Amino acid sequence: MKSAIFNGIRALHVHTALRPPPERLAIYFHELEEHQWPAFAAAIKQLTGSGYRPTDPDTFVASTDGTGHLFVSFDDNYASWHRAMPLLAELGLTATFYVNTLPLAPGFSGETHRGFFDRIAHMGERKALSTSMLREIRARGHTIGCHTHSHLVLATLPRNRWDGEIARSKAMLEDILGEEIAHFSYPYGMRRFFSPALADYCRGLGFRTIATGIPGLQAGGPPARYALHRTRWNLSAPLARNLTDIRIDGRLFERLTGRSAIG
Ligand SMILES: [Zn+2]
Repeated sequence: MKSAIFNGIRALHVHTALRPPPERLAIYFHELEEHQWPAFAAAIKQLTGSGYRPTDPDTFVASTDGTGHLFVSFDDNYASWHRAMPLLAELGLTATFYVNTLPLAPGFSGETHRGFFDRIAHMGERKALSTSMLREIRARGHTIGCHTHSHLVLATLPRNRWDGEIARSKAMLEDILGEEIAHFSYPYGMRRFFSPALADYCRGLGFRTIATGIPGLQAGGPPARYALHRTRWNLSAPLARNLTDIRIDGRLFERLTGRSAIG
C-alpha cells in the first residue's frame, strides 16, 4: 500500500510539477453526503490547485487546447447533492448532474423508492431530489443532464421501451426546468450496458454529448462528444489512489473485459 501511495504521489509530481497538465480530466461521483465532504473538498482543491478549471460538457468537448479542463459530474438522483450546494459554491465548482427522473414523478414513494435505490446499488441515504431542489441546483449555474427515467439496463431493454426510459426522462426534465436538456449519461456506464443502436437513438433525440463510465484519458484531439469517457472518483479511497486512477486509460481493458479498470 505504501508503495502505491508513493507511486501516486510521484505520478502526480511528474504530472503537475515537471510539465503543465496535458490532459482534460473528466471525473464522476454519485452521492455527496456530509461525511464525504472533506474528501470531496480535498479532491477538488488538489485538482484546481494543479491547474484544472471546472467546465461544462459543451465547453469540454469543444476544447482543442487540451489543457486544464475539468469536467465534474454526478450520476443518479440524491437529495445530498442539494445539501452540498454551499460546498460546491465555496469550492468555486460548477458541475453536471445526470438525473434519473423516476423519483421526480408524481406518486413516487414507498415501494418504488426502495426499488430505485436497490437498482442503483446505493448503500447510503435513500433520499432523492424534489423538483424544487432540482430547480435550485440549476439556478446555481450547474448543468442538468439526463440519466434515464428509472436506471434500467438499457442493453436488454426492448426497443419499444427506449422512449419511456430516455425520451420521457428528457422531456420531464425539460418540463421541470423550462429549457433544453442536451446531455446524457448511460446507466451503469460500461459498453455491455448499452449498444451502438442505442447510442444512435440518443443522438437522434438531440443530445449534444453522451457520457460513459469507461475511464479514458482525455488527451490529444477533442474528446469524443458521443463517447465521453469519465473516471469514477472514489471518495472512500485515499486521494493518492484516485490521483493514480485518473492516469489510467481503461478503454482497452474495458473492451477486453467489459469492466472498468478502476476498482
Ligand atoms: Zn447511474
